[in-house]
Amino acid sequence: MISKILSVFLIAGGLVACSSNAVTGRSQLKLLPESQLQSMAVTQYQQFLTENKVVSASGSRDAEMVTRVGQRITKAVTDYYASKGLSDQLAGYQWEYKLVQSNDVNAWCMPGGKIVVYTGLLPITQNEAALAAVMGHEVSHAIFNHGNERMSQSMGAEALQAGLQVALANKPAATQSLFLGAFGVGSQVGVLLPFSRKHELEADHYGLIWAAMAGYNPQEAIALWQRMEKASNGQKPPEFLSTHPAEGNRIAQLEKYMPEAMKYYKPARN
Ligand SMILES: [Zn+2]
Repeated sequence: MISKILSVFLIAGGLVACSSNAVTGRSQLKLLPESQLQSMAVTQYQQFLTENKVVSASGSRDAEMVTRVGQRITKAVTDYYASKGLSDQLAGYQWEYKLVQSNDVNAWCMPGGKIVVYTGLLPITQNEAALAAVMGHEVSHAIFNHGNERMSQSMGAEALQAGLQVALANKPAATQSLFLGAFGVGSQVGVLLPFSRKHELEADHYGLIWAAMAGYNPQEAIALWQRMEKASNGQKPPEFLSTHPAEGNRIAQLEKYMPEAMKYYKPARN
């Protein structure tokens, strides 16, 4: 399937479809231009905000916390990319952070930096450092183009070649649903398209680093994921785990990444 898509692209325009991610080093199949994804993200994000209740950032401690954590995490990402001479990888990013009223346990970041946290997540994060771990995880999925890879693997070759705008015009509902699924907006609005194990490990790994650079103790991620897994035994398993599956031993992997993350950790002075 992938080779078929590739050959169509190579014949069509000699496009380079496979590239190494500058931070993770992993080779990725990204067939959609990032600019198309960012432009679709703006539309989908605005629509989501009109259909859901946004908690106003003024006067809500929770919404203020989401903004504060978001700003610190994205500053860490921006600084890290700048220090490696990779700022162009974040071209088009205009970060935004919203808390929405919903019992679902969920959070996501769309390409271009539109981040949403659901109030239903907060009883599981419980503290700011754990929220930083989740937001760091979500931001990683976006900046590492995981959604682009997922869409590239799920859309047909012809649709990919024509581009997102044409796909949207021809099959608006299916394309939107795929997009929302690919970026973890949730199975209730999109198709259920869980991130792969590779994607989860990358998001966990770098999520710890962004949290640490942002001044949050990355160790809090361990207790957070333990609470998340415990919540999955309840009557209504967290939406979050259906899109961010904890295959294998997530905690053991986090422990493995921890010494590296701790090198970046300097407690924030408030
Ligand atoms: Zn994930």
